[in-house]
Amino acid sequence: MQLNETHDPALVSWVTSANAAGCDFPLQNLPFAVFRRAGSQEPWRGGVAIGDRILDLAHAADLKALGSAQQAALQAASQGELNAFMAMGPAAWSGLRLALSRALREGAAEQRLLQDGLIAQDQAEYRLPARVGDYTDFYTSVHHATNVGRLFRPDNPLMENYKWVPIGYHGRASSLRVSGVDFHRPQGQLRAPGADPALQPCARLDYELELGIYAGPGNPWGQPIRMQDAEDHIFGLCLLNDWSARDVQAWEYQPLGPFLAKNFATTISPWIVTLEALAPYRTAFTRPPEDPQPLPYLSSAANSAHGAVDIRLAVGLQTQGMRAAGLAPELITRTSYRHAYWTMAQLITHHTVNGCDLQPGDLLGTGTLSGPTPGEAGALLEITEGGKKPLTLANGETRTFLQDGDAVVLRAHCEKPGAARIGFGECLATVLPAYQA
Ligand code: MN
Repeated sequence: MQLNETHDPALVSWVTSANAAGCDFPLQNLPFAVFRRAGSQEPWRGGVAIGDRILDLAHAADLKALGSAQQAALQAASQGELNAFMAMGPAAWSGLRLALSRALREGAAEQRLLQDGLIAQDQAEYRLPARVGDYTDFYTSVHHATNVGRLFRPDNPLMENYKWVPIGYHGRASSLRVSGVDFHRPQGQLRAPGADPALQPCARLDYELELGIYAGPGNPWGQPIRMQDAEDHIFGLCLLNDWSARDVQAWEYQPLGPFLAKNFATTISPWIVTLEALAPYRTAFTRPPEDPQPLPYLSSAANSAHGAVDIRLAVGLQTQGMRAAGLAPELITRTSYRHAYWTMAQLITHHTVNGCDLQPGDLLGTGTLSGPTPGEAGALLEITEGGKKPLTLANGETRTFLQDGDAVVLRAHCEKPGAARIGFGECLATVLPAYQA
């Protein structure tokens, strides 16, 4: 992915909040979401984040504000779901990004048309930005796989297949929800030590720090996507919290893998950061020399040179007690996506190698993105070593797993000298008490 004028860190927008230091959504980012004014019955439509505003793409399309060459892409991106835009592919995505970048720059003639189409983000509500036909969750952190494996198999933490084949399972698209939608603690079949199984509220509720990858055009059934083409099929990335019922999981996961422990709720951030916006933060993909190198179908020169992305990730926890006391979420994890054992391109290629077809808007979860050190663990299961070592928060409260009223917020951003900061916003939800009929 080449750098171009849209990545220039010197660009300044006429939307002045976009120029503030530390802003998640400067002119170089331009992520997409689907929104409307909160509490209204307005139609859902596509928007682009700029500073603390949303540029209403339906307004821009109505005025044909970006010119005839961009009108088809603009109209697709202004819909109440972005699947048609995702299907258009990288040339269309990139063309619209360039036009938006130019139109939002200081001094742009388009300001006169576009300024009436700005809506404050804090007055908007969001929904899932696409119709997600299928959702697959991977397991791309070798550190997470090893930490979790050690809890279950101390002598053999990492299964032999891990370093050869990207591990994943088919998740459930129907229970995806956008940030801000709370959910009830699930109940499930549990088996306490020495007892018979019983239906009970989950007692070991956990989060998983992940990124979501939206598929672009996808492939005809039966035709694998090769590594050299894989990134043309990635529209962009979001934050993803794969809520997990560890006690349900422990009892049900053999022999077919996760089922009800995972499919009750998955929260995603509203904003999709495009792959092009992340170009300055691409970094080398390497394997330790003692590990098997990826098979040829999962290798390419470009993937080795810059297949990874340095996205800084953080998890915040806010208990009900903290909220009552006016305390902000406490940061309990910081890590980076660059530690992943498999790249985005490898996930796309592996998913389709057998002829399985990806559709525009399909979502791939990366799996819990734990880094190499204990402070980089992406789930409570790891932080508390399976509930054995409680986490003590600054206000004195402790947690092994999540309690009712706990809110988990995921955040991510990219930052380095010589490039604009690219933020993801946040992915937030609160655990409600178990459902009572
Ligand atoms: Mn997961």
